[in-house]
Amino acid sequence: MQVEASERTPARLTTRLVFLFYSRPVFRAWEIVCNHAARLIAHKERMRSVQCSRAWAELNRQRMAIQRELGRISSSHAHVCAQCGHCCKGTRERDAFLDRVIQNPHTEHIGARRRTGAMVGLHIAQAQGQLLHPDAPKAHGCCNELTCAGCRLPQTLRPMQCLAYFCGAAAKALSQQECEAGIRLLKQLLKLHWQAVRLAARSRWGRTRPD
Ligand code: SF4
Ligand code: SF4
Repeated sequence: MQVEASERTPARLTTRLVFLFYSRPVFRAWEIVCNHAARLIAHKERMRSVQCSRAWAELNRQRMAIQRELGRISSSHAHVCAQCGHCCKGTRERDAFLDRVIQNPHTEHIGARRRTGAMVGLHIAQAQGQLLHPDAPKAHGCCNELTCAGCRLPQTLRPMQCLAYFCGAAAKALSQQECEAGIRLLKQLLKLHWQAVRLAARSRWGRTRPD
């Protein structure tokens, strides 16, 4: 979306700065804390019980809805990111513990980092025939999911950080309404992380049956 000159008012600049504050230091720090907490607390068998799996599935439904809306905002800054590409550079894995467990509580990758195998989202996209750019060659020296035509995962199956992160240049391409929507969605994603930590705690100390 084109940002009009009339949108460059102090109030709108403030909204963009608040949005960047949520997107970067707050989300980054909160994501790290919640992932480590959930990973350390979760009972590795009971977190896969029927009860817990239902609760993870509900969190996953909410996560997908949030990422779908963040994806709509992304279309306004896609041209900025396509030119830059910095976020997808480097071969480190992007998916964190909660990205994997929320999408598939039975995942074998329950460490802080996934060192082998593929993203849970990739398996789901393949199984559901949702892979994007299937004929495009892979990009070298970048995230394993990046092709020369863009990310091969649908936005709802990407790691949360891929949709939640915005730099100043990307945020500059957003309208006032998009920044406001972004703040609301990022707050929802922060809350979802906390709910995931609470569910991990329930798997260890709550009344869940190891089915
Ligand atoms: S968010 Fe910013 S740093 Fe990341 S790819 Fe887009 S323009 Fe580049
Ligand atoms: S999953 Fe997609 S959006 Fe996220 S870093 Fe990899 S290529 Fe980029």
